[in-house]
Amino acid sequence: MVHNFNAGPSVLPKTVFEQASQAILNFNNTGLSILEIGHRTSLFQNVMDEAIALVKELMQLDSNREVLFLHGGASTQFFQVPMNLLSEGETGAYLDCGTWGTKAIKEAKVFGNVDVVASSKDKNYSYIPKGYTIPAQAKYFHYTSNNTIEGTQMHSIPDSPVPLVADMSSDILSAVLDFNRFDLIYAGAQKNIGAAGVNLVIVNKEILGKVNRKLPSMMDYQQHIANGSMLNTPPVFAVYVCLLTLRWLKEQGGVAAIEKINNKKSELIYNTLDSLPVFKPTVAKEDRSKMNVVFSMENPELEKDFLDLCKKEGMVGIKGHRTVGGFRVSLYNALPLSSVEALTELMKHFALQHA
Ligand code: PMP
Repeated sequence: MVHNFNAGPSVLPKTVFEQASQAILNFNNTGLSILEIGHRTSLFQNVMDEAIALVKELMQLDSNREVLFLHGGASTQFFQVPMNLLSEGETGAYLDCGTWGTKAIKEAKVFGNVDVVASSKDKNYSYIPKGYTIPAQAKYFHYTSNNTIEGTQMHSIPDSPVPLVADMSSDILSAVLDFNRFDLIYAGAQKNIGAAGVNLVIVNKEILGKVNRKLPSMMDYQQHIANGSMLNTPPVFAVYVCLLTLRWLKEQGGVAAIEKINNKKSELIYNTLDSLPVFKPTVAKEDRSKMNVVFSMENPELEKDFLDLCKKEGMVGIKGHRTVGGFRVSLYNALPLSSVEALTELMKHFALQHA
């Protein structure tokens, strides 16, 4: 039995793997593989239509919000966002709360001015900055809702006088939020949505078409909207895996139901960490992520022993990011509670041995 705590690409439901495998051999009893059908066929159009409809339904999006499946991973959105929203000389406001946000800031500077309204760099991004002011003249305010590497998460939506843009790559669809408060949301699929190779973008069409630069077609959200995410050949198989994962999420009872399980998982692991002095959670308590639990050990010499034990017991992907060290346990939607139970039992056992 393998327990997969990878940070992304990461665990997906077993039924999704089974259905995706079947579709490679024989898609919907057509005698054709999902890998060999044209993207302009009704067969694939139905896949795209259902995936878009499920995102709208699960996130309860209003009619101004357009759903796109685009190439390029979340890193492409770091520059596609400012390209579409920020004219030269205009300012985008950014919250600097982790490694990925820092990269988004760097890319935005290519297209306009960046006002970093607050940063938690002073303490290695181990907390979420608070009490900052978002300038009313900014074109938008950008933040990372969950910091995958550092293990912090925004637990409320900030009040903003300007359009809100969020990188939700590592916590989208994990908890109920008023997603209509955002003017643009983007997320790489490879954690809670499906397979790597595609990006989910949700955009309020009202904010588009206002920049004064020319946009290459493939970078222009309006052209993607007009073409239903099929301006060119979409990543067909990755979109199909998203559809299967979205169907699975709906079968679980949707976002509200998965949030309850996600809360149980994160409470169990944080309570265990707090009760065992050998372990040392590294981020501010009120900003702890429910998706990526980051911790180290009081005695760093024991870290290798714990990693070896985890490996022996089939726990995969718990080594911390190379820039942070220690451990990172990712608890995405498809990770069962039983995996967290197995890991916390192992932690208790290890703590007893090293008391
Ligand atoms: N933002 C966040 C919050 C992430 O966790 C990641 C990847 N783990 C990225 C952006 C970059 O995503 P990609 O590799 O798909 O470009």
